[in-house]
Amino acid sequence: MYDTFHALILKPMVYRDNETLVSFITERGTRGSGIAKGTKRPTARWVSSFEPLNLVNISLFGKENQNLKRITSCELISSPMLLGHLESNLVVGCLADLFDRVTQEGLEDPRLFRLLKTVTDGLKSRPDEADLILAYAEFWVLFLLGWLPDPKTCGHCQGTNEPFTILSEEMGWLCQRCHPINKGEGLPNETKEYLNHLKLATPMSLQRQNLNSETFRTISRLLRQRLIGEMGVSPKCYDVLFRSSGL
Ligand SMILES: [Zn+2]
Repeated sequence: MYDTFHALILKPMVYRDNETLVSFITERGTRGSGIAKGTKRPTARWVSSFEPLNLVNISLFGKENQNLKRITSCELISSPMLLGHLESNLVVGCLADLFDRVTQEGLEDPRLFRLLKTVTDGLKSRPDEADLILAYAEFWVLFLLGWLPDPKTCGHCQGTNEPFTILSEEMGWLCQRCHPINKGEGLPNETKEYLNHLKLATPMSLQRQNLNSETFRTISRLLRQRLIGEMGVSPKCYDVLFRSSGL
C-alpha cells in the first residue's frame, strides 16, 4: 500500500548498512518514520532531502500495520538551511530534535505541525532573529502540550493586573499580590508583557525592540529549563548551540 503526503523531516539516522531511518512530522501532527534504502550509493538522490526541517513530499510503501514502512520517494519542497548562518542552522537542528521528542506516533496534533512550519519559515526569512524564534517555539511547545499555564492570569487569585513574580511548580505564574517580592528579586518586570507578546506574535512579527535583553535571557532560560524538565532529557544540539552562541 502506498501513501504520499507532506511532512517536515525531523531526524535522519544511519540504520543498517546503506539504509537510513528517517523520522518526520506529518501535517496531522503525528510522528512517523520510514526506512530509505540505498542511501550510501554515490548516486542516491535521497540524501539531500533528509536534512532536518526540510519540507518534503514523501511516499511510503508497506502493509497497513507494518511498523517501519519503506520510503519510496522523497521530493524536497523547501529547506530552511542557509549558507553562512551558523546560529540559524543550529537552531534548525535544535527544533528538529525537540519536535522529534515531543511528537508521538499515533498521537495527532496538527497544531504542532503548523507551529513547526511557521517557525521554519520564520527562520528562513529572519535568520538573524534565530534565538528569538527558538524562544517563541519553546514557549508554544510548552503551551500546546499543557506544560505551561496561560500567561494572562495569576494561578492563585486569577487576577490579571499585577506583574508576575515567580513561576511556581504547583500554581503556575503568581502575581505580586499573592507572592510579594522585594525590588530586584524574582521575575523581571516585563515578564507578562513578553509572554503575551510571544502568545500573540508570529515568527514574522516577533519584535526585539522594546524587549529588555535581561528579560529575554531570564525568561527563555526559565522556559527552556521547564521544557527540558518535562522531556526528562536535554537534547545534545542544545549544548552545541549554547556553547557556540552563548545564549
Ligand atoms: Zn495573584
